[in-house]
Amino acid sequence: MNIYLARTRGFCAGVSFATAVVERALQEYGLPIYVYHEIVHNTFVVNAFKERGIVFVEKLSEVPPGSRIIFSAHGVPPAIVRESERLRLRVIDATCPLVKKVHRQATKYSENGCHTVLIGHKGHQEMIGTAGYIKEELLHIVETVEDVKKLDIPLELKVGYITQTTLSVDESKLIIEAMHRRFPNLQDPARDDICYATQTRQDAVKELASLCDMIIICGSANSSNSNRLRETGERCGVPAYIIDSAADLRMEWFRGVENVGVSSGASVPHFIVEDLVKELEKMFPGAAVQRFENPEKNIVFPLPELL
Ligand code: SF4
Repeated sequence: MNIYLARTRGFCAGVSFATAVVERALQEYGLPIYVYHEIVHNTFVVNAFKERGIVFVEKLSEVPPGSRIIFSAHGVPPAIVRESERLRLRVIDATCPLVKKVHRQATKYSENGCHTVLIGHKGHQEMIGTAGYIKEELLHIVETVEDVKKLDIPLELKVGYITQTTLSVDESKLIIEAMHRRFPNLQDPARDDICYATQTRQDAVKELASLCDMIIICGSANSSNSNRLRETGERCGVPAYIIDSAADLRMEWFRGVENVGVSSGASVPHFIVEDLVKELEKMFPGAAVQRFENPEKNIVFPLPELL
């Protein structure tokens, strides 16, 4: 058995940033600290913070007035910012800087009266946040090429688009091409919204797919980027499974497999992948572990000033 580890995997700079914000807030202020939504979509990260007393909430009404609240890496809509001010909450913003860049683009489109097609998965926390920066009458959400055909925007009006940061690079390309065919004057955002971490992790899974008979992705079921990695493997014709940890492995997946690829979503701690590798080595004594050089080691986002 050969075990190939993806070139890029584990925490992206945005997840490192958001978790570091929570750590620093704990050090500087101690408890109580509230976090609006899961700080990142990973069960282990969230449970570890819960064990240290951090309280995760889905509604601001659960937070006592005047308390400290951290906004998660996925970002929040302006309505939540306003509600926090009304409740005199002391806000610490852990929104990934790359998500905030998308918020700025959304604001700019709305200020210019531009109909904005938001491409992504309805109901995902990042989509809820970004949609809030687009005027209601200018907002259109699409998930598929089929949805593009149903858009009801007169051709003479201004139209632009933005995307969720963690989409499938290949699928969103097809949707954007369909948008360009449908709206000849379509405005592209100033820069690609799909973030570097999503792109490099999907590229790394394609590399694994060229070497492996099966791929395992570590990640939580609600993690968008982890699910896109599993789909990327499958689209390359290689069976791929998503697991929270080594405990979820199933022996039947390995029938006839000689080369297994391992990767993880951008919100997965490195130790989860290392534990998985140890488990695979136990299951398949003598297995060789192949590691590639990671090109993105030096990408770091500076921490915000805390309040
Ligand atoms: S996946 Fe991309 S957008 Fe999301 S937190 Fe990481 S760097 Fe930021």
